[in-house]
Amino acid sequence: MSTHGSRGIALLGATGSIGASTLDVLARHPDRYHVVALSANSQVQRMAELCELHRPRVAVMADARAAQELRELLAARKVKTEVAAGSEALEQIATLAEVHTVVAAIVGAAGLRSTLAAAAAGKRILLANKESLVMSGQLFMDAVHRGGAELLPVDSEHNAIFQCMPPDFSDGLEKAGVRRILLTASGGPFRATPLEQLAGVTPDQAIAHPNWRMGKKISVDSATMMNKGLEVIEARWLFDATPEQIQVVLHPQSVIHSMVEYCDGSVLAQLGNPDMRTPIAHALAWPVRIESGVSTLDLFQIAQLDFSRPDLERFPCLRLAFEAVRAGGTRGAILNAANEVAVQAFLQGRLSFTGIAQLVERILDEVPDGSAGTLDAVLEADRRAREAAERVI
Ligand code: NAD
Ligand code: MG
Repeated sequence: MSTHGSRGIALLGATGSIGASTLDVLARHPDRYHVVALSANSQVQRMAELCELHRPRVAVMADARAAQELRELLAARKVKTEVAAGSEALEQIATLAEVHTVVAAIVGAAGLRSTLAAAAAGKRILLANKESLVMSGQLFMDAVHRGGAELLPVDSEHNAIFQCMPPDFSDGLEKAGVRRILLTASGGPFRATPLEQLAGVTPDQAIAHPNWRMGKKISVDSATMMNKGLEVIEARWLFDATPEQIQVVLHPQSVIHSMVEYCDGSVLAQLGNPDMRTPIAHALAWPVRIESGVSTLDLFQIAQLDFSRPDLERFPCLRLAFEAVRAGGTRGAILNAANEVAVQAFLQGRLSFTGIAQLVERILDEVPDGSAGTLDAVLEADRRAREAAERVI
């Protein structure tokens, strides 16, 4: 197959929810894109199916055992994909010369190194892995600028904001005439649950998001609204916005994906059905528009859009994230690490739902702050926060 003019894609986190949506969009445009590399943590069966279907040149699993299992499955299916393992191999596929675009769709801190590697190598990065930007904000943006990478947000809100921004937004928001970012949030499944019932909610209730189908971690983050907190920090770095320039707006229908307010009073919004294939298609082809498979937005069916102010008593994680972004330094990395440990413990039944925010707050108090000027400093903060969080649980 000739790949002339077709862009090579490395999809990191291929077996996840964003991975599936990305492969769905790619399969609609075989003339524009070809899959060079796929990665996954441990889902060997699923990965074998994806390799058979998309025929990547390389597949990377998190560890050697999973890689060996995948090799055997692929040999049995006569699929010639080369299989590698580990974080170095992950960085390698993010920097291959034949890769034009890296889709960063690993969940959590596990995605940091490969995303940074893609930035340093000057790739187009479709950023779903918001945790990496939350952890290493300045470092990450510096790597993007130094490497000459193109950073395109896939997170639906940030993709919406990007679409509503003026072309020169990177010269500074004020200079570009932008007054505020209006970051919308659905409020998740517990938007109206009586406060005294929150301590007793189960993982199954927490991951049942009203509007989006997503991986478990981000679904719990949406229920605590830590997801919105992480997104505030993500917006701070992507658009060089101050925390004061970011207003979170509860909008339960998830139809407006976010807005940008200008100094003349104009407010631009991006609307669409809640389907990640829209932001993925936008970021893949930008500045061109391509089909995504998402159905037409039926405004008559929706009929009504609601807005309200988020309640910080109900959603303490949102307050903690605002505090962390104001404090800067390694606060983002500590917040993120404590939250990852807390969410995992909640999903395993070792921590209550309200315990998530309590644990994150305690770890932010306990673990000393530092400068986030180097990757080592960020990783050290991440390690200390995880250790402290595990100890408390
Ligand atoms: P998911 O759990 O469905 O998938 C995660 C992927 O990461 C899987 O392919 C898994 O194999 C891989 N992975 C997990 N741990 C790993 C490790 N230690 N090493 C290597 N690979 C590992 O998650 P998702 O919902 O697709 O979310 C992925 C990222 O995208 C997250 O950062 C999330 O915040 C972000 N995001 C997701 C959505 C969504 O709609 N799902 C929307 C916006 C942003
Ligand atoms: Mg989002």
